[in-house]
Amino acid sequence: MGKELTASFGFDSMRVEAFVCPFCGALCDDIIVETGNNGDVKIENACVLGTRKIMARTRGRITKPMIGGKEVSIDEAIERAAEILVNAKKPLLYGFSSTSCEAHSAGIELAELVGGVVDCTSSVCHGPTILAIHEVGVPSVTLGEVKNRADLIIYWGCNPMHAHPRHMSRYSTFQKGRFRKGRISRKVVAVDVRPTESTKLADEFIQVEPNRDFEIFNAMRAILNSGDCRGDVIGGVPKEKLKKLVEEMKSCQFGVIFFGMGLTHTYGNYRNVREAILLVRDLNMYTKFAIIPMRGHYNVTGFNEVCTWQTGYPYAVDFTRDYPWYNPGETDANSLLIAEDVDAMLVIAADPAAHFPKQAVEYMKRIPLVVIDPFESLTSKLADVVIPAAIAGVEVEGSAYRMDGVPLRLKKVFEPPEGVLSDEEILKRIISKVKEFL
Ligand code: SF4
Repeated sequence: MGKELTASFGFDSMRVEAFVCPFCGALCDDIIVETGNNGDVKIENACVLGTRKIMARTRGRITKPMIGGKEVSIDEAIERAAEILVNAKKPLLYGFSSTSCEAHSAGIELAELVGGVVDCTSSVCHGPTILAIHEVGVPSVTLGEVKNRADLIIYWGCNPMHAHPRHMSRYSTFQKGRFRKGRISRKVVAVDVRPTESTKLADEFIQVEPNRDFEIFNAMRAILNSGDCRGDVIGGVPKEKLKKLVEEMKSCQFGVIFFGMGLTHTYGNYRNVREAILLVRDLNMYTKFAIIPMRGHYNVTGFNEVCTWQTGYPYAVDFTRDYPWYNPGETDANSLLIAEDVDAMLVIAADPAAHFPKQAVEYMKRIPLVVIDPFESLTSKLADVVIPAAIAGVEVEGSAYRMDGVPLRLKKVFEPPEGVLSDEEILKRIISKVKEFL
């Protein structure tokens, strides 16, 4: 997109190439950040969301640790956070999707140490995708393969132009690849309940009725496997249109479905994704087809990876039984808060007060709450203990996983404010304190 923006920060001249944008799951790694002698900052290639994230470091920062709204030293804040976690019978550690894998690792260790539950934003996002993958696997590929090979791209229940603005230009629709000449050699289909900025860029827009995706995928599988299905209109789509789409999918050289909240946040939930995966699996009897979830935060995939290595499960892991227990619907953050089944909470790199249902937030207000974040948020305003953090991927290096599971190294371009530690350091210091108390 080639957006540029300048602002004054007062730093030495520096040029960082192949900088990785720490905002969305597209994890663009072609950003250039340049700081001039006069303190100007120039950012190339990032979209407006990425640019704002990289430049956000001067706005709304938490700079001082606080207990009960009063400024304290970092040691006091860390000690109080450790005390809260040790005194709780079942603390919940939640967030993690906007920080590094190194911080994930420390957070999971801390949850096990205090016998709590650890969960990330997957439980309110692509958790249903993960449940579907548990049942039927996932025929997937990397975004590089899409760029080089895909001639049919389907965006289903997602709006990349708003949520992942460079996805179409960098990996799928517009990009030239080894076997593709760019836009001209790809067909793009958008399936959604309403026209969006993304559907406007597609060759074909199929408008479906809300909450009918399961039925549509099911009908498409019937058409693919037996040539026909019952009914003339399925989920608001004329059968003949679905038949044409199935034919296009069957006869392409390399197809891919990208999907988002339109499948995971509607009736049917994980079963929508399961049915989509089964359709893709069936299509591989005829051609090469893949499916990729449009993961949201830049490192939500990373948390799922790290948590799986360390515990065997990707999110919503309960350590209260001396062994990891995983049962989303029971052990995810919202279920626990609504059931009032936790008695303290640590939130890191997330803002659940802004995104959770009212009942969960009301309960958050009634239990001791620790927040670790670079920025003020609705959640930080509710917190008993607030610990400022450096911005991962801007002020601290680390590892992150792109939406297709490709790991990339986050770079650092600015120093954090004086005395402000990284998420990983904060969690490790809380771990040391907890060990003293236990
Ligand atoms: S598309 Fe996502 S990762 Fe790429 S620059 Fe924009 S916000 Fe950053």
